[in-house]
Amino acid sequence: MPELPEVETIVRDLRPQVAGRRISEVIHLNPQVLRHPGPQELLSSLPGQLAVQLARRGKFIHLRLDSGQTLVVHLGMSGSLTIAAAGSPILGHTHLRLRIEADRELRYRDPRRFGRVALGTEAELISLGVIPVLGEEPLARGFPGPGVHQILRLSARPVKAVLLDQAVIAGCGNIYADEACFLARVRPSRRAFRLTAKERGRLLAALPIVMREAIRRRGSSFSDYRDGFGAKGEAFEALLVYGRGGGACVRCGSTLRQSTVAGRTTVFCARCQV
Ligand SMILES: [Zn+2]
Repeated sequence: MPELPEVETIVRDLRPQVAGRRISEVIHLNPQVLRHPGPQELLSSLPGQLAVQLARRGKFIHLRLDSGQTLVVHLGMSGSLTIAAAGSPILGHTHLRLRIEADRELRYRDPRRFGRVALGTEAELISLGVIPVLGEEPLARGFPGPGVHQILRLSARPVKAVLLDQAVIAGCGNIYADEACFLARVRPSRRAFRLTAKERGRLLAALPIVMREAIRRRGSSFSDYRDGFGAKGEAFEALLVYGRGGGACVRCGSTLRQSTVAGRTTVFCARCQV
C-alpha cells in the first residue's frame, strides 16, 4: 500500500502538470470507485473547474478546485494516479480519466479497487465520513507536537499500533513504522507507555528521517506502487527491515525476526530493538 513517501512523490510529480490548469472534460468514470457525490453530480460539476493546488494529507491526495471543492483520491492497496499525454494507451483498471486542458490526462487506476475517489468541500467530506479526521503530519514543521507525545505516553497499545493509527500520525503505514522502530532501536510490540522519554523522542525523530529518505528515493515499489509518471521508485531496495525477515540485521548481523503486531507482518531485530 502506498504510504506517505509514495503519495508525496506522486503529488510532487503531478503538481506542476496539474496545478493552475483547467479540467476540460471527464472522459471516463467508473462509478464503483466514487464514494461521493453521485456520478451525475461529479460529471456535471468537474468540467471547467480550475485545479488550484495539488496537495497531500496523510495518504490522501487532494486536488483543490476553484469552486472550493476538493477531488480527493485514496490509492488503497494498488492505486496509481498518473499524468499521460492525451491519446496514449489506456492500461486496464483505469477508473477515472480527466482531460487537463487539451493535451494531457490525469488517470486514476486501481486493479484491486480498494481505493476511492470523492468530490466535495473538505468539511463536507469529513462530516460525511468519506475522509477521516487525520492526526499530525510527520513532515510538518513542529512535528511531533505535544499531542503525539502524550498519546504514546499513555497508550497501552503496542508502539506499532499507535504509529499506524491515522488519527494520531497521518501517513505512516507498515513499511515506515517498522523502519522507524528499527532506527530508534524500539521493539514494535512494546507497550507505548513503557517507552522512556528518550526512546519516545528517538522514535518520533526517526519517522521523518525514514520518510524523507524514502521520498529522496522516490518511494518503495515492492508491489504496485508507481510514481506520477508510472515509473518505479528505488526506496524498497534501501529498506533496512521491512520485507527482510530471516535476513541479517545491518547493525548487528543477527537474524531479523518476523511476527505479527497490530495485525500486521512486522520485522525487527531482537538484539538491537528492546
Ligand atoms: Zn540487530
